[in-house]
Amino acid sequence: MADEHEHDHPEQDETAEQRVVGELPDVSKGTARPITVFGNPVLHREVATVTAFDGELAALVDDMFVSMYAADGVGLAANQIGVDLKVFVYDCPDDEGVRHVGHVVNPVLEELPAGRRALDDSAEGCLSVPTAYMELARPDFAAVTGQDKDGNPIRVEGTGFFARCLQHETDHLYGYLYIDRLSKRDRKDALRQMSEGTPKYATVPND
Ligand SMILES: [Zn+2]
Repeated sequence: MADEHEHDHPEQDETAEQRVVGELPDVSKGTARPITVFGNPVLHREVATVTAFDGELAALVDDMFVSMYAADGVGLAANQIGVDLKVFVYDCPDDEGVRHVGHVVNPVLEELPAGRRALDDSAEGCLSVPTAYMELARPDFAAVTGQDKDGNPIRVEGTGFFARCLQHETDHLYGYLYIDRLSKRDRKDALRQMSEGTPKYATVPND
């Protein structure tokens, strides 16, 4: 997910008391990889379930964090660096200023109870739809279950912008971009914005 909240990104706000939920990654371990964009088949189909919780998976998570930071994103799914596995990483603020950092393997979005279905229609962007932003209504609370890179079961929940991130990244791994949830007209507008802009990070060219 692209960073649409740059002005209040915790990293750039030196005055706020910063609360971090999760463990900051060791960015010296990973390598930045270029980002796949709209039209690349790996973004438009469900990717594979992770079954091997090994060093290769840990190295993938390291690369994903570094790739996300290099592109100034707040979330990244494995197929956004061309890897056919259900993994996402995030470093994303919620609407209370709490910074959430982590990764989820094989995420499944929990069905929301009827009482928690309030919608938030903030703007959303995606590193794989560079330079485009559109408003999209999503529930302002989300919970995801899955595993960590060692195979332990985990559950991550969040509100506001972080809830949006959890939904956006899980969608990626099932082959959906946020623009697939827009009206036909807004989708076309987002693709027009993308065609008119130039990404500030390395992308994988489409054939
Ligand atoms: Zn995205």
